[in-house]
Amino acid sequence: MGHGPCAGVAPDGGCEVAGVGPCPYVSAIGAAPSPAPVDPAARGFVALQRAVVTDLPAEPLSAESCRACGGELAGATDGCLLGDNPRQRVQLPPSYRAKILAEEGVPAWPGVNCRDRNRVALEGELAACHDVGVAGVHCVTGDHPAVGHRPDAQAVFDVDSTELVSLARAYDLVVSVAHAPGTPPVDYRLPRVLNKVRAGADVVFIDHCGGPERVSDAAAALRDAGFTGPVIACPPVATDGFSAAVLASFAANRLPAGYLDRVTGAVDPRRTGIDEAIRLGERLLELSDVDGVNLSTAGRPGAERETARDLAVIGKALRG
Ligand code: SF4
Repeated sequence: MGHGPCAGVAPDGGCEVAGVGPCPYVSAIGAAPSPAPVDPAARGFVALQRAVVTDLPAEPLSAESCRACGGELAGATDGCLLGDNPRQRVQLPPSYRAKILAEEGVPAWPGVNCRDRNRVALEGELAACHDVGVAGVHCVTGDHPAVGHRPDAQAVFDVDSTELVSLARAYDLVVSVAHAPGTPPVDYRLPRVLNKVRAGADVVFIDHCGGPERVSDAAAALRDAGFTGPVIACPPVATDGFSAAVLASFAANRLPAGYLDRVTGAVDPRRTGIDEAIRLGERLLELSDVDGVNLSTAGRPGAERETARDLAVIGKALRG
């Protein structure tokens, strides 16, 4: 990769890609710099309170599935986060999916990554997102290409997430970024996300990092550093063995204790998964430094619409 460390660093500092060994970006990092305070006056304010954002489970490359799953989520979400799924690297362009969702009355929050496009192509995508009128764009560097189903594709990494934030702000978009406080090197994560905030990020999504107490600590650290924008926590949603296995594959040690076991061991995993997600979402929304949640899931292929319905049940319950 051209930029790092990404959020795929293993607990022992190794790379998530088999055979790479220690992540070179971790060993290159010295002592974490003290985070300089963020000047709130320099940032646009985005009003989000008790926001419920949801992933969009949909078949890749299917406008029809995007439309159908988006329709299930209408009225249940403040924005559909169009993420970067390793199992579905080839997707319809974010702005096109956002347009489909807009036609269904669903605000889109497209993810844009630096792995698949250079800065010229990214600017075109950001301009299209602005034209469609998205709720926000989520700027990430992107996983290593070896993680996912298209390892044959040449990675670009012309810019990284921090530079992408600046590009997105130039198109007058609300910009969100990811914060991975539970991923090594943990001392480096707060300064890194604050750099993204200084580059123009309005909203911070806190990646899986444990239960509500850990999320509360991470959100409080952002506030202590001067960040005043919306903070979104990401409760995992597992409603069957498949979604539980996918979540466990990349975040098993960063989920609330026993969370997945309660779902997979239940007589009715779907009902239990929905109830667990609502319970966890409520606890996260009660945290004083958290402004919203993103229902984060990995739907079973072929069951995208059922997964969207489950997210809608959870979203409606959390929105009250
Ligand atoms: S993929 Fe992530 S963990 Fe692996 S070398 Fe690159 S930055 Fe480090």
